[in-house]
Amino acid sequence: LDINTPTVLGVDVGGTNIRLAIVDTQGEIGERSNQQADLSQLNGQGAAQCVLDTLSEAILPLLEKHPQITAVGIGFPGFFDNKTGLMISSPNIPGLRDFALADALHKRLRLPVHVQNDASLAALGEFRFGAVQGLSSLLHLTLGTGIGGGLILNGKMYGGDGGMAMEIGHMHIAPEGRICGCGNTGCLETYASATAVSQGYLEQSGKRLNAQQICLLAEQGNQLALTILEEAGHYLGRAIAEAVKLLDVRHVSISGGLSQAWSLLFPTLSQALEERLIPPLRGRIHVCHSALNDDAGILGAAIFAFEE
Ligand SMILES: [Zn+2]
Repeated sequence: LDINTPTVLGVDVGGTNIRLAIVDTQGEIGERSNQQADLSQLNGQGAAQCVLDTLSEAILPLLEKHPQITAVGIGFPGFFDNKTGLMISSPNIPGLRDFALADALHKRLRLPVHVQNDASLAALGEFRFGAVQGLSSLLHLTLGTGIGGGLILNGKMYGGDGGMAMEIGHMHIAPEGRICGCGNTGCLETYASATAVSQGYLEQSGKRLNAQQICLLAEQGNQLALTILEEAGHYLGRAIAEAVKLLDVRHVSISGGLSQAWSLLFPTLSQALEERLIPPLRGRIHVCHSALNDDAGILGAAIFAFEE
């Protein structure tokens, strides 16, 4: 990156790691850093302090090395009040409640810090720099440890009244389905997240593999791995059909580790989607694999830092 162009730091906080990159106004990415951090194990009163320590330790070395960085944008798995900016809660970290993460980090880093829901920012990144440009609306899904959903409506991020819109991972898609971490059964993420794929394979084979290994096996023709991925695609198609019937959004993009198996997910996804649409929507919903190599979250965080 040109040292004279304005740059920000985009940070994407995931279930098991924190990914950071320097980004300029054109969405060009410079130096990156990747830190292993399992924040989901945090609990109780020390959680806020630990989140602050972990994020500061990941961010500070890059700020020291690149003094041209003017702000930090962070996508975090949490629900944010759009008036106060407070993190109301985080689905994976019960100890965090009404947490002023942006303000607390701003004091430590001495730079403007902007924090927003990770899936909403991934949607923003995809909307601005993704495969299809010039859209007015976009629904974006990230298939990771869980399933995140983000929505851009008429060019703007839509988070709902309390920052909890598009919790598509908890859309009920299977009657009498598997038990979800949210306490309900049959949620999308119990079938189509990386965790679900890994769990499904373990239950039927007795072998514990991660989603990436299962995708590889499927590509080599392993029947169980293929069946599990096709099932994941099928349930994604069901959920997307229900979402677009509510929203009439015509473009959907999908990112996250599991989306690497696109050619295996897409046929059943597409079939389940078309079957469940109302006739006027059939053939009009475009679902594509993210073209950003999982940088949607980092880019969205950077856009948010530039524009807030
Ligand atoms: Zn659920």
